[in-house]
Formats: sequence, structure tokens, C-alpha cells
Amino acid sequence: SANNRHFFVGGNWKCNGNKRSILELVELVNGIHVERNTGVEVVCAPPFPYLDLVRSTLKKEFGVAAQNCWIAGSGAYTGEVSADMLLDVGVEWVILGHSERRHLPELHESDETIAQKTEKALESGLGVILCIGELLQERENGKTLDVCIRQLNAVAKVVTDWQKVVVAYEPVWAIGTGKVATPERAQEVHNAVRQWFRNNISTQVADKLRIIYGGSVNGQNCGRLAGQRDIDGFLVGGASLKPEFAEIVLSHR
Ligand code: PGA
Repeated sequence: SANNRHFFVGGNWKCNGNKRSILELVELVNGIHVERNTGVEVVCAPPFPYLDLVRSTLKKEFGVAAQNCWIAGSGAYTGEVSADMLLDVGVEWVILGHSERRHLPELHESDETIAQKTEKALESGLGVILCIGELLQERENGKTLDVCIRQLNAVAKVVTDWQKVVVAYEPVWAIGTGKVATPERAQEVHNAVRQWFRNNISTQVADKLRIIYGGSVNGQNCGRLAGQRDIDGFLVGGASLKPEFAEIVLSHR
């Protein structure tokens, strides 16, 4: 993107891998040559049980993200993981509001839950990769921006400092489907989201905020997407488990 925002590429490994394959993936990512300072910010998001392993084997200049965290600190919350625990094992980021967590019927996280998680994560010192995006039916009904803005509004109520937030625009119909948004359609939404920040938060935040795209990004389509003015990086699912992740990381040049 034609600006001075630091390009950001996250690999969302979702619920995939085992110790052996995860170590292979770390080796692959460690082999990507990213120039310090001028280069891209790379963050890998393995499942919870592998966070410690990935943090201790991944190059220090690359970040590690969890795929979720709890709304509160330690206590009687069976099965949950707190932001402080993530920080304790060296994790720097957390993905929140992913469409799978919003829409899988067994999870069904609300805008308010995601806002609570975001507030807690930021307060603890984690960076947040905040996912927003519309369902196919919402797009067909012309509701794309309404949905994205509703999701942003919930979170904006609790965020006081946007410096540690990256917004990931991920149209749900593009996730894991092979149906990537065209660079023009993605740019249109990214531009509108940035405009929302300009009007509702501040010009300074809007200019600095990284808005990354997610949904069927691969080695072939990343170049044209990366060339769009308001696309500041990617959140990559399927292709982050493959060697082509390197091409995506280096696509901003
Ligand atoms: P995908 O997933 O790249 O496999 O479409 C992206 C995501 O869910 O973050």
C-alpha cells in the first residue's frame, strides 16, 4: 500500500498441526528473509498448546499471536486462557472477533463479548488483531458497511488507545472458500473503514491504523491486493500453512 504504514502479515494456523508439523512450519517462517525496520511485521498464530513452543523457536523479530483469550484475569473460568498467561509465555498478540468464533453455532461470540475481550487484552498489554466482516447474505443485501461498522462500534466503546490494534477485514464468504474479494472491492471496504475511523475516532488514528485483508489470500492473488492504497497487510489462513506464505509476506515490495 502506498503509505508509511508498516505492512503486517499474520498467519492464522487455526486448529491445525502437531508438534512435528508446527516445528516444520516455524522453520519455514524463520527462513523468510525480512529486512529489519523497513520490512514487514510477521505474526504467527498457533493453537494454544503450541504457543510456548513457537515463541521459543520462532525468530525474535517475528511475533506470536493467540487465536482467542478470556475477558477476565485468573479465576474460576474453567477452560479459559487469560491475557496475562499469554504474556507470561511471551505472546505479543491475540486474534479477536474471528468470524469462526462469531458464527460457529457452538461459539457464537457477540459484539459485546469481543469488545470485552479486546478491552482486557489491551489493558493487559497484548496487541489485538480485530477481525470484522460480513456474511454472504449481508453483502447481497447491501449491508457490508453496516455490519463492519456495527462490529467496530462495539469495540470502539472500550478502546482508548488504537496503537496496538490492527483491524482485519475478512468477508466471511471469502474465508476458506477460494473466493477472494477482488482488489477493488476489498479496497472499497478498507477505504470506508478508514473513513469511519477518520470521522469517529481521529484523523491521526485513521492514518496510522493498519487495516489488513483476510479471506483466501494466496501466493497468486496477494500482489494485486497488496498494491491497494488501504490494504496494509493480510491475515492468512490456509496459505499460512504452506511454503507460499513466504510470497505473501514479501508481497508488499
Ligand atoms: P483463509 O482464512 O485464508 O483460509 O481464507 C483466513 C482467516 O480465516 O483468517
